[in-house]
Amino acid sequence: MATVLFYNIPATGHSNPSLPLVAELVRRGVRVVYHNTDPFRSQVEATGAEFRSYGAAYQFEPEQDVAAPFKAMGMILAASEELLPRLIPAARAEQPDLVIYDTMCPWGKQVAQALGVPTVASSAIMLVIGRNFRAMPPDPRLQLGLLRRLPTVLQGIWRYRQIAARIQRRFGVPSPGPLDFFGNPGDITLVYTSRLFQMGANLLDDSFKFVGPPIAPRSDSSDFPLDWLQGQVIYVSLGTLFNVRPDFFRACLDAFKDTPYRVVLSIGRKIPVESLGPIPPNCLVRPHVPQLEVLPRTSLFITHGGMNSVNESLWYGVPMLVAPQVGDQYIIAHRVAQLGAGLYLDPQRFTPASLRRDAARVLATPSFRRQSAAIGESFKAAGGYMRAADEVMGMRERGKVRA
Ligand code: UDP
Repeated sequence: MATVLFYNIPATGHSNPSLPLVAELVRRGVRVVYHNTDPFRSQVEATGAEFRSYGAAYQFEPEQDVAAPFKAMGMILAASEELLPRLIPAARAEQPDLVIYDTMCPWGKQVAQALGVPTVASSAIMLVIGRNFRAMPPDPRLQLGLLRRLPTVLQGIWRYRQIAARIQRRFGVPSPGPLDFFGNPGDITLVYTSRLFQMGANLLDDSFKFVGPPIAPRSDSSDFPLDWLQGQVIYVSLGTLFNVRPDFFRACLDAFKDTPYRVVLSIGRKIPVESLGPIPPNCLVRPHVPQLEVLPRTSLFITHGGMNSVNESLWYGVPMLVAPQVGDQYIIAHRVAQLGAGLYLDPQRFTPASLRRDAARVLATPSFRRQSAAIGESFKAAGGYMRAADEVMGMRERGKVRA
């Protein structure tokens, strides 16, 4: 039986898209040993994979700041340096045929390089690497923000290079160059979108497998009142990581009170519902909602532009207002607007009145929904987790993996 090692980071948006693939590999008789932090144990074990915990060695709380990616690079690579002394011998003992790693897990690729086994990268974000960097849209707001934080940016890159040099000395393996850090490609790279939606897809060769988002039932239906979702429904979520924006949620409540819309807000687990003040009767506020069940009943999604949320919205043909908070979300927001599936919402400059106006415009213009559905169709044609599993198994057929 083939053994595959999987390395992920503790983030819902990176774990979710990997699980249907892992379950499918297990169904096909592959032994998958999956690494993450303890809170992810039960959802990983539900796929049939064996779980290994990083334990306390991985501690990383992302910051909501325009320069955050440059700090995060150093923090994540520091985690790599911390983890590798334990992960390399443990991996060697498993005698893996293949390593799959989330692109934000540099240690996954480094373990594979130390062992000399083939790699599959799993890209849960909009893929931005050196090769397609020039296709990224210039965003004056982002660029100005980065310029203001230039010392932090430079310090982040300097720290990153120092850690990379130490890792090379200690373990004999390279780290991705700074431009490749977040997209860190493998022998093949699974990208959970379509070539149509990917920015700069024409600059990426056939080793990038655009398999579309792996939409599969999840075990989070809970007690959410789906029947309440009647008429025009607006769903608001800033995802699970960069969601400490009580001002944004309050503006949404103010924008849509006294309107005929039914409004669902998923505000995350970091701010208490009470901190938002009075909740209008046409609004429902929850720390977490079953998004895959809410979206098919949604007329408009106001989102931070996380790759998974946007993928899921497009899958169900839901138009969007995208208010990016950090990192690739700016690029994704541009892409949604560029393809006519929604509007880019400046996350710093909005008022209840502007929100209400933008929402009304998207709701009244059928082309936004049509375009969203068209991109969703390209996702459905991309093959999903079944094709992702075929690609992984194909590595074996091509003789790269021991039978
Ligand atoms: N999600 C959910 N319910 C919520 C909020 C988020 O099920 O109330 C899921 C959502 O469906 C998506 C993931 O959490 O799969 C969020 O990933 P995304 O990449 O959109 O954003 P992140 O949380 O990584 O910023």
